[in-house]
Parts: sequence; C-alpha cells; structure tokens
Amino acid sequence: MKTLGKYSIGMGDRFGHQGSAQLKAVIEAGRKGLEITPVWNKSNREHIIIGTQPEDVRKEADEVTSKAGFTKPYFVDADHINSDTVDRFIDSSDFFTIDVASYIGKKSDDEKIEEFVVRSVEYAQELHFSGIKEPLVITLQKIKSIAEKYLYAALKAQEIYRKIEKRKGEGTFVTEVSMDEVPHPQTPVELLFILKMLGDLKIPAQTIAPKFSGRFNKGVDYTGDPKKFAAEFESDIIVIDFAIREFGLPANLKMSIHSGSDKFAIYPFIGNIIRKHNKGIHLKTAGTTWLEEVTGLALAGGEALEFVKDIYAGALEKKQELCAPYADVIDIDKARLPLAKEVSGWSSKKFADSVRHVNTNIDYNPDMRQLIHVAYKLAAERSDEFFSLLEKNSEQVADCVFENMYRRHICRLFDLD
Ligand SMILES: [Zn+2]
Repeated sequence: MKTLGKYSIGMGDRFGHQGSAQLKAVIEAGRKGLEITPVWNKSNREHIIIGTQPEDVRKEADEVTSKAGFTKPYFVDADHINSDTVDRFIDSSDFFTIDVASYIGKKSDDEKIEEFVVRSVEYAQELHFSGIKEPLVITLQKIKSIAEKYLYAALKAQEIYRKIEKRKGEGTFVTEVSMDEVPHPQTPVELLFILKMLGDLKIPAQTIAPKFSGRFNKGVDYTGDPKKFAAEFESDIIVIDFAIREFGLPANLKMSIHSGSDKFAIYPFIGNIIRKHNKGIHLKTAGTTWLEEVTGLALAGGEALEFVKDIYAGALEKKQELCAPYADVIDIDKARLPLAKEVSGWSSKKFADSVRHVNTNIDYNPDMRQLIHVAYKLAAERSDEFFSLLEKNSEQVADCVFENMYRRHICRLFDLD
C-alpha cells in the first residue's frame, strides 16, 4: 500500500509558482533530522476560481521535486472532493481527501442503521481510556443516533473510494476522509463510530480530518481556547489508536488538521501531544503562499508594490463577492480595513508588515490579511502581469514563502530552531 509518512504537510500553492520554495522548507527540516512528506493540495473551488486543472498541480510537484533531486515520497492531494467533483482529479492525484460534510445528517436505510447498531453492540458500555478524563459513555441509543447522522456519509465515502480504486488500483493512493467543514465538532464517541463505519466499509483511511472547537479562519491565528482544543485533540488521537486496533484500519491512520494555516496558538499543543503519544500528523495548510507572494512583491517595491496596492484597492471594492465563498472561514472587521487612499501612500515595509503574520509587529492587520487572502481571484484576472512580476522578483518572493513555511509553521509545530 502506498503509505503516507508519519509527519506530512499539505501545502497549497494557488498559482503554482512556489513549489520549489515550499519544498526547500521540507528539505531544510530533513537536514535537521525531521522527515516530513510534502503533499501539494488544491481544491476544486480553487481550481475553478483560478482556472487551473488538477494536472497542473501534478506537473508542478513532479517538476520541483525532480529539479531539487528530491527522491523521497511526495503526493498530490485532490482536496475536498466529493462524488460530483472527483472525476477530473483521479488521474493526476495520488492522495484523495474525500469530503463527506455535505452528506452528514442525511439518513441511510433503516435496515443498514439497524445492522450497524447490531455490529456495535459490544461497545455499548463505559469505555475507559488512560489519557481521557471521563469514560466514554456509550449506549445503544447513542450508537443508533450516530448511525442516523453519519452512516449515509460513510456509505458515500465508500462509493467515492471504490470509484477511485477501480480506476487507479488498490493501494496506489492515500485516502483521507474529511468532515471539518460542518458547523459543530464531532465528539470522541462520534469519531469512534465514524471510524468503525470506515473500518466496516473497508475504506483504508490513512488520515481523518474532524471538525474541532474554535474558529480556523484562513491565514490567521486560532480563535478559541487552546486548552480546550488540546483536550479534544488528545481524546481524538487516543480514540484513533483504539480504532486502529479494533476496526482493522491502517496502522498509520493519523489526524489531519485542516488548519487554514497560521494556527500558531495551538501548534505547541499539537506538537507536545503527538510527541507524547508517538503519533503522526498531517497538517494541511491553506493557500497562504499567495499572501507570501503579495508580501514579497510589496517588499520588492516599484511596480510590484503598486500592483499589490491595486489588488488591495480592488478587493475593497469587491469585498462581498470575494468573501462569499469563504464566509465560514474568515472574520473580517470592516472598520479595521484601511482605505485604499491611505494604503496608496504606504512604503514597502508598511505594506509588508501589515500583511505578514507577525503578532508582535504593531502594523500587523489580520483583517487586511484575510481580505487579501480571498482576493487571489483579482490576481488571476491579471495573470500575465502578476506572473511576470513574480518572475522578476522570484528570489524575494521565494524567501518569503520559505520563511513562512519553515520558520512560522514547521519550526513551531515540530519544535525545531
Ligand atoms: Zn478542510
């Protein structure tokens, strides 16, 4: 079976120009003794907004790894696919994030629900785990209600998995099941039975992406109580361990955190917990590479600075349209967005400091950062100009991409320096 390494990082590269700089961060971690498998992920939504194809991501990943002489495994992730969107990703991807969020809450046949409850009878008890404070109290009624809520979604995941398997062959790709884009977090008990469903249905998930408490807004820090997150995260990985033993799931099954990037407040907790339990992690980051491109261009000054100021001015005008697809994963306080007129007079440094996620910098503006994050469509509309600027200033931009991925993400999560 094609297996994902213990530690892996999902990197989004919306415009496909920064693969080398992202890979350099992984290679640098390797030099420090930490092996991380790079995964390039791009969702259908991003492909549609930018006008790219899944093949483009494959081409980028193959090119940058070959150019760097990188001989370790790497993957291309069909991110958040479902039965409507999977087809065009099948040939070029070898990692599939099967998103069941839209199927949760739909009820499957009563007969199937009943069968699942019967198969689960032995777990209708108080389950005690060292590491989880309270025992998990499980009743037949609870199992039934979990089956009513999730079994249909699990069956859809199986249908999608089989479709991919039929075309690609068993064991030739990595399977993730995601349910993070829902309003409420799953409890450890829910996760336990969701994993039982995946095991029963022979879906060899190597990563699972539940929803956690708190807000995971794109490109900015975690909003919520990091300690509460940590307790939830630790319970979940204990449950995953149990599920591997009980339900025949792959031994390397691990948590995938769809972080939306930049969750610096919880990285130390995640790092400590996975080290304590000797578990792996897949950290999926968002396409904040685009924000590093903006920062790099701002620092380059001249026409590059003018270009990003223009993008910002355009984003202010089209704020509603740009934010709509991301409503659940951004929180922008309009009152904190500087006016275009004000920004037009800014220096390279002022612009870069406002966008770059460094909390201690007094100019850092998370509202402006989030707005620019969703404004990548405006750069896609002027791609000739944008790509030419990226090429002219490639070193400066690549430095920003590397710095962000290595220092702010990898070093903080894995406690490197
Ligand atoms: Zn996600």
